[in-house]
Amino acid sequence: MDFTLSEEQLMIQQAARDFAQNELLPGVIERDDAQKFPSEQVKKMAELGFMGMMVDPKYGGSGLDTISYALVMEELSKIDASASVIVSVNNSLVCWGLETFGSEVQKEKYLSRLSTGQCIGAFCLSEPEAGSDATSQKTTALDKGDHYIINGTKNWITNGNSAEIYLVIAQTDISKGHKGINALIVEKGTPGFEIGPKENKLGIRGSDTHSLIFNDVKVPKENRIGEDGFGFKFAMKTLAGGRIGIAAQALGIAAGAYEMALKYSKERKAFGTEISNHQAIAFKLADMHVQIEAARHLVYKAAWDKDQGNNYDLSSAMAKLYASQVAMDTTIEAVQIHGGNGFVKDYHVERMMRDAKITQIYEGTSEIQKIVISRSILKN
Ligand SMILES: Cc1cc2nc3c(=O)[nH]c(=O)nc-3n(C[C@H](O)[C@H](O)[C@H](O)COP(=O)(O)OP(=O)(O)OC[C@H]3O[C@@H](n4cnc5c(N)ncnc54)[C@H](O)[C@@H]3O)c2cc1C
Repeated sequence: MDFTLSEEQLMIQQAARDFAQNELLPGVIERDDAQKFPSEQVKKMAELGFMGMMVDPKYGGSGLDTISYALVMEELSKIDASASVIVSVNNSLVCWGLETFGSEVQKEKYLSRLSTGQCIGAFCLSEPEAGSDATSQKTTALDKGDHYIINGTKNWITNGNSAEIYLVIAQTDISKGHKGINALIVEKGTPGFEIGPKENKLGIRGSDTHSLIFNDVKVPKENRIGEDGFGFKFAMKTLAGGRIGIAAQALGIAAGAYEMALKYSKERKAFGTEISNHQAIAFKLADMHVQIEAARHLVYKAAWDKDQGNNYDLSSAMAKLYASQVAMDTTIEAVQIHGGNGFVKDYHVERMMRDAKITQIYEGTSEIQKIVISRSILKN
């Protein structure tokens, strides 16, 4: 068993670390406060090849493995989880979904633009009444021969306003249940397609989350991904890979908060000594360190499974479940170690604590991950 990262992986990790320090850190507090989308930073991430990391270079991508992608997600998330979720959605939900299941025409038309960051994409599954229960799609895509007509509403869509290409899941034939669901590519500006107001969120406030409204939106049939009725399977398969990205995001948030707490504990003095000399604080740091390392192993293992062509439904669910819990626990303790300073924005850890929470909710809540995991272990 070899735990060593390759030269290339180390180089990419370093590039992401430098980028996060030099380009994401400045203004991160202000962007969070103002809910400002990091447009300039996204452009620069595209120049570094971070928007289509796993995409084949023939479609403009960087042709990297999933481990490299997880390393980049981890480094970006140490500083700015709002920026990293934009990367995660574009890479694992939109680009990967299109490259793996899209037609050649769709790839040529859309994938290169997405992977080079000329535009970004959104993945639109959730609805007001279909979150965890994603089979209860109320949005319809009625088959009209050479096109579909979409009606309905999607909720909480990441990159909701900033995207130009939307992968929309909708019900075509209710009598077939989840086998009657399709995934369609919808372009911004298609008549009848409206973007709802921006959500005012607890965390990842720099990312733009919107509802989307479809009123008789006409989409040509060639924009359907896969065979008729493949949409639900498309969503589930895509989300299994997406969970590796979110697990890496959670890992990065935890590791970033830990690094700040460690540094602070060696500087801050109380009772005549650095607080790290108080065993209560040192033990907190020890627990954080162990949990982060355990999360890291689960995340890299899931990424490795994907790279090896192994089934990664179980490993990605385990990685997301555990890493998101570690992100929550670690950021709470990082705030505690910072004392009063932890409660104010200048010290970053309060933002990280707010950002951590979403990793337990999106791309399948922690309860849903436990359903995936328990089903998998019980069937064997
Ligand atoms: C900031 C943000 C960004 C998002 N981005 C996207 C996006 O880009 N695209 C997209 O499609 N969606 C997106 N979502 C939606 C997200 O994936 C859903 O919110 C999530 O899947 C949970 O669905 P829900 O909110 O409807 O909660 P519900 O499904 O109503 O769940 C409520 C609670 O009940 C629990 N629960 C539900 N069913 C069960 C069960 N069977 N057993 C045990 N517990 C259960 C849940 O775990 C949760 O604790 C985003 C959400 C947010 C907040």
